[in-house]
Amino acid sequence: MDIDGINKNCSSGIWVFIEQTDNKPKDVSCELLGQARVLAAQMKLAVTAVVIGHGVNQVAREAIAFGADKIFLVDGPEYEHYSTDAFSTVCTKLIYTYKPAVFLLGSTEIGRDLAPRVACRVKTGLIADCTGIYFAADDKQLIWTRPAYGEAAIAEVVCPERRPQMGTVRPQVFELPVRDAYRSGEIIQVDSPVSFNEIRTSLVKTLEKQSKNNSLKEADIVVAGGRGVGNVKQFLLLETLAKKLGGVVGASRAAVDEGWSDPACQIGQTGQIIKPKLYIACGISGAVHHLAGIAAARTVVAINKDPKAPIFKRAHYGIVGEIEQIIPALIEQLS
Ligand code: FAD
Repeated sequence: MDIDGINKNCSSGIWVFIEQTDNKPKDVSCELLGQARVLAAQMKLAVTAVVIGHGVNQVAREAIAFGADKIFLVDGPEYEHYSTDAFSTVCTKLIYTYKPAVFLLGSTEIGRDLAPRVACRVKTGLIADCTGIYFAADDKQLIWTRPAYGEAAIAEVVCPERRPQMGTVRPQVFELPVRDAYRSGEIIQVDSPVSFNEIRTSLVKTLEKQSKNNSLKEADIVVAGGRGVGNVKQFLLLETLAKKLGGVVGASRAAVDEGWSDPACQIGQTGQIIKPKLYIACGISGAVHHLAGIAAARTVVAINKDPKAPIFKRAHYGIVGEIEQIIPALIEQLS
């Protein structure tokens, strides 16, 4: 292996890591294939998908239908379930062998686990959690955009020297491309570079996730919490309030990022679009991305300690004050 990493003049092509469940590529991977096609057309490059799994031929064919020209398919029982060891070894070997210019992964649990390990092993940079990618003029330099400073600014980041230019991209940032079942592409079977004894983890049990958002879209009453709720304990109080009102709990992305709520409960541009009769925003500032999810809410109540918070412009009723005091008081009133 090249211990100095990959020379940028010897790299070419745009790669997308394909995540899959039940033999179907995840939407975020197909969204990335769509954007890779846009970039590839601009720079006259090929789009290659990396498909790793067990019995995943169909995933490879779907990746072609969504825009890949070529597939590196690594198939075997050792890849039945995602493991950091096996998947990062495969990606690292493929990158060192074929030297892509760009490697895109979804900003998912797997993407966030895999990308930094691979980037570190191939000695390149990683731009995490991006919301945009474009080529600068006719240069082969990619510009990655991502929110910075608590999303108060948008940063443009480049990886000028190292290759591949690697990044994870948030789901739903790019449009899902139209699937074309008649597209053709080349599937290259790659021998497995990993044996079972190199995988240091084993999957003991898979538990079905209790989805809390089933009812979010249909709910008449939604109590949503944002960063201003402060901590997970207080976030749980929103459940109590929602139950008292006969509603369900939603969240801003900041609350999801803090780990207080399930990503499936996120409301907004990259989350759920809801249409409740009553929406109570607790400690949510009212960013446009969040408001995009509540455009159809009939009555909006905002609770926020900052009287200038933008959410008050959208709210029909506002309570200026501390969440810590107001939520328990409301629960008590309803008891
Ligand atoms: P903050 O903006 O930090 O606001 C916290 C609020 O709580 C403040 O107004 C503060 O005054 C108040 N507060 C603090 N302490 C207290 C207290 N003790 N009592 C009462 N109030 C208090 N966001 C989404 O929500 N959904 C999306 O789908 C989404 N998609 C996005 C897509 C893109 C491409 C980008 C760039 C961003 C997206 N965002 C989304 C992020 C969005 O821009 C905001 O950053 C996010 O909504 C902020 O969440 P927040 O209001 O909870 O946090």
